[in-house]
Order: sequence, then C-alpha cells, then structure tokens
Amino acid sequence: MRFLSMMGSSFGCSSTGERLVSAARDGDVQEAMALLEYNPRLARYSTFGVRNSPLHYSAAQGHHEIVSLLLGCGVDINIRNYRGQTALMQACQHGHWEVVQTLVLYNANIHRVDYLNGGTALHFAALNGHSRCIRLLLADYIPSTPSFWDVMRKKSNGRESKNDFDEGVLFKMVNQPADGGITALHMAALNGHVDSVHLLLDLGASLSEITVEDGTTIDLIGAGSTPLHYAACGGSVQCCQILISRSASLTVKNANGWTPLMVARSWHRDSLEELLSKQPESRQQILPSPYLSLPLRSIVKIARECGWKNSEFVPTCLDPCVVCLERKCTVTAEGCNHEFCTRCALYLCSTNCTSSIAHGPPGSIACPLCRHGIVSFTMLPGAITSIKEIARTSISFSLCACSGEVSDSASMLTPLRKSDFTCTLISPLSSSSFRSLSCQRFPSIKLNSSRCLGGSESHETLTPSLNLKEAVLEDELLAAARLRVRSFNKLDHSTYGIHDHIKYLAEREFEALKERVAGRRVGFRKVSCINASIPLSQISSGADELCSSCKFYENGEDRIVIGTLDLNQCLRLPDEITGKRPEGIGADLTRAYLSNVCVAKELLRNGVGYSLIARSKIVAQEWGITDLYVHVADDNDPAKELYLKSGFIYENDEPAWQARFLDRPRRILLWTEISEKLC
Ligand SMILES: [Zn+2]
Ligand SMILES: [Zn+2]
Repeated sequence: MRFLSMMGSSFGCSSTGERLVSAARDGDVQEAMALLEYNPRLARYSTFGVRNSPLHYSAAQGHHEIVSLLLGCGVDINIRNYRGQTALMQACQHGHWEVVQTLVLYNANIHRVDYLNGGTALHFAALNGHSRCIRLLLADYIPSTPSFWDVMRKKSNGRESKNDFDEGVLFKMVNQPADGGITALHMAALNGHVDSVHLLLDLGASLSEITVEDGTTIDLIGAGSTPLHYAACGGSVQCCQILISRSASLTVKNANGWTPLMVARSWHRDSLEELLSKQPESRQQILPSPYLSLPLRSIVKIARECGWKNSEFVPTCLDPCVVCLERKCTVTAEGCNHEFCTRCALYLCSTNCTSSIAHGPPGSIACPLCRHGIVSFTMLPGAITSIKEIARTSISFSLCACSGEVSDSASMLTPLRKSDFTCTLISPLSSSSFRSLSCQRFPSIKLNSSRCLGGSESHETLTPSLNLKEAVLEDELLAAARLRVRSFNKLDHSTYGIHDHIKYLAEREFEALKERVAGRRVGFRKVSCINASIPLSQISSGADELCSSCKFYENGEDRIVIGTLDLNQCLRLPDEITGKRPEGIGADLTRAYLSNVCVAKELLRNGVGYSLIARSKIVAQEWGITDLYVHVADDNDPAKELYLKSGFIYENDEPAWQARFLDRPRRILLWTEISEKLC
C-alpha cells in the first residue's frame, strides 16, 4: 500500500488519484463524488504498474453506484487494464450483476477479448457460473418474443423455422471461442455450473464445438474435445445429464482418441461411469432455464431511451409504481397491462430466477401482481418527456433515496443497497433480527389473562394453547410471511395502493421462505421457519388486522401466527457479520443463525419472544448445532434485552463503514452455546 502511493507520487495528480482509486475500491460514494466534483478528469486515472483504472476497481468490487458515477464523468467504458481486461470482464468474473447491468445499459462492448487467454466477458461469467451476468451480457441478442424458446428448440431438432431475430449473430456470440477453441459452454461444463450450462444451451450454445491445439495452453483433456468431454473431466453428474439430455454425443472421440467416458475414467470420476456408458432410452423432458427472462431486451431498450435512475422520483405522484411505491409508472407489462417504473421492471427481469411458473410461454416472467407471464414491456406514453436523465450529464444523482420512509423492498432497488450475488432468489426482507417498530395504530393487547400462566420474561410456555413448532403447511408459511411483512416494513395504510404493495411483499417473502425451507437456497444446509401461534378464539378484540392477515387453519381450528423466526444452518448470512465459532472443518454443520425474528406488535411483552427462542434452541440441538448466532441492531434495546436474557453474549460488531454502506443501524453479533442441558 505504502509502496503504491510512493510510486504514484511521480504523477501530477497522484494523491487525489490514489484517493479516488481507494474510494472506488472501498465503495465510498461520497468521497468519490467529492473528488470527481473537484476534478472530473481523475476518472481516467490509472495506478502505475498494474494500470487498473478506478472503473476497474469499482467494477471488480461490485460498487455499481460508483461505476455509474464514473461513467457519468465520461470515462471510457471499454478502457482496458494491463492484460486487456475491461471493467465488464471483471464484473462478470466476480458475479456483480448490478455492475454488469449498469455497463450493459451504457452500451459497454461485450466483444472485447482478454490479451492473455482470448476470453470475452461471457467466458468470465461462464467460468464462475454467474448466470445472471451471462443473461445480462446477451440482453441485446435475445428477442422479447413468446416464440423464442420454441424457435431455439426446433432448431436443435433440425427443423426449419421462421425467425423474427438474427439467430446467426446470437449463435456467434454464444459460441465465440477463446484461445484453444474453448467456448463459454466448455468452461461452465468443466466447472460444474449446472445453471449456466442450462442457460447457455437454451441460448444456442453448441454441443459440437471442439477445442483446438494452439500450442500455448496446457491442455490436460486433449484437443478436439466437446463440452461433454469437459463436463466428464469436471465430474459433475448434473452437467453431464443436461448435456446428454440435449443430445450430446457419447461416442465422439477427441484428438487423443478418447470418448467422454474415457476422459471421466482418466480423472477417476466414478460417479459418471453409468451415465456416460450408454445413451438414455427415453428422452427426458426439457425445461427452460429459469434465467431465460424474455422481457429483458424490451426493458433494456426502454431504460436506455428514457433513463432508469432516481430522476423518475416524483414526490407528489398520485399513482406510483406498486412495487417501490416511490417512482412514477413508466412501463406497462404486455398482456396484463399492469404498470411499473422502469427501475423495478429492470430489476425484475435481471433477477428473475425463481422456480415458480408463470402463466405464459417458456422464459416469460411472472407479473408480481397477477402472475401473468410477461414476455415484454412497453413504454407508457409520456414516459420520455417526463424524465430527464440527469445522471448522464451530472454526477450529482440523489443519495437520499434510502430514507427511513421507504420500505425494505424499495431500498433493495436504490443505488446504495448491496444485494447478495448468488443466483438464488434472495430474501426480499432484511435478515435483521427483531425489529419492533413503534406503531400507534394497534393498541397493545394481552393474551386472555385466565390462560396466561407465565410472566413476561418466563421461558415457559405462556398458555396451554400457545403452539411453538416448525411450520410445514404452506398456509402457515404464508401467515408467517405476512407477519414478517407487517413487522419489518413501515407501512402507512393511508398510502394509495398500499394493499397491493403489501400483497406483493407478502407473496415475495412467501416464495422466498418456501424456497429456503425446501433447501433450495445455495449456501444454506437447512432452514426452518419456527412459529408461535394461538387459536383465533384466544385473541381479544383490537387486533382485527392481525387476525385477518396472519390466520391459518390447522386441526379443525383457525390459528394466528403471533411470532416467527428462521433457524438457518449455514456458515454465514448474506450481508451480515460472520460468527467465529466453531472454528475449522465442519463449522457449516454445527453453526446456525436466527433471522427474521418478530413478534406481533399487539402481543409484545407477553413472553412470546422468549418462548420462540427457547424452542429454536431445542430444534437447533436436534440438528446437532453447537453454536447459535443472532444479529441485532445496536439501537434496538428491547431485542438486545431479549437475547441477553435468553443466554446470548456479545461476540462482534459490524464496522461502521459497512453499516453506512448498507444504510442501516450498526449490527451486533450475539452468540450462545447450545449445550446438552437443554433437553
Ligand atoms: Zn418501482
Ligand atoms: Zn399483471
């Protein structure tokens, strides 16, 4: 570090240049803005020796708001570093899809190749299995038409078809070889990235492209190898399966005379033996990749034409976008005609990867309001004239969008919110634990006192009918999702469209919750939703809204979810401080976190929180957990008290800069040991 800054001092603008590089790398938007305001030419500054520009640093680190800032200052979007890499390649390599989205919207060149290996941005994304990035890169080449998937399938069956887009250009893009003839499909297949292999195949990646001897690369598999040879070397059963289901040849030999099976044997991939030995008898059903997202091109075109930034914000908007409740509606979904702002539609198309099926053609995405399968968006009349794209000409875009007034889901869409970059559906709600928002609308009520056996800090079950258990029924999960939405969002019931918005938030949390509980979220071993519920008949009046939204039916009676939390068996939660215990191998089996802890406002101070935590410890012990963690906001005293009295102790806290960056109160990480004594 010191060395770098000394080297830099031989340049005229070195010290401010270095400061900009640091700001770009660390994601310090305010510092970057101040420096660029002072001298816009700094945007082109490169560090001596490695020649990474600030654009490269911010792209590689995923700071998309700084990327926007630099592009707004006129920096060359396709600038290369010493090895010929563009910022787009680095963003793809690290899976920062929001940066890729920004660069694509600004028309970055996706054809540039790396000097060292001849790879394009597509190769970098495929190498690391970043399917969202792959999809965004090819945004301009995949039409927003309902027949796309059928056209591509018929082609693979060898039948003629009429096309309404240039298949040839897409084919060239997807199958462009890097040095040694290696395609994106080879790379994804070798590294076992099933989702990326699936997507590339749907986009026309060829199964018969073969590698070539070019004398420069070390090739352990042999020239003349197909993607299936590469998958066989990598050893992923699923990758081989999907390639074979799309008719990859099992008998083709590479330059060494090896079939895929022989490659698998030479790498001791025993699990592939049977799969690669004979063609499957029955044709498997071929499903479209969940990343296909047909409407993407239509919304990218609209965004380029009329902007996508905060300038759309209209303070007195009467009919705002129902997803963010903040910006004016500028686009409409073809078919159901629901209206959204460009930002939300863009976000929807870039992140759509759920397993839930839309009512529409393959690759359409579900309308957040009616589940209609959206294939394209069209611009609403007047969208262009009402919007001025200030960010293109000025660097002072609004930084105050993440105010406390917007809900969590809206802040996901604001420039300062960091999202996780895995390709699973991200939890729409913050994992912040136990926030009780003050709320004047609901008077606090007590459980019927005749049934109430425990004090407010008792660890015992409060009432005989308070049920504490892991949710299994979808009905109960939905009730829990609704409780979370009303607990974690400041919802003003007088806002226009609020009920649609709440419905939308609950639907999203429900889908995400189902996905987590079903074990489909990458990085999580096991997730359980643990609820506290009581019969409807036990709730006294004054809680009508709670009763109607958090009700479910079980064993012949209506019950109300009054408290809920998630128990997550995993190494870390996205965007949160990671616990230290236990150390070493196996920590992913014995470490767990509580998240989404909440108790209905109407029933706070009834000891429900204590009961829930006690129950979750028992479940954790059944799972073999030894160390249980929970994150709590530093300023949330009631929650801290709850955890400390439940046996948690302080382990760590979040650096202040990270809290600022994520625009939230600083978090504290609390730990407790799960001991034998519990049972
Ligand atoms: Zn919106
Ligand atoms: Zn709709």
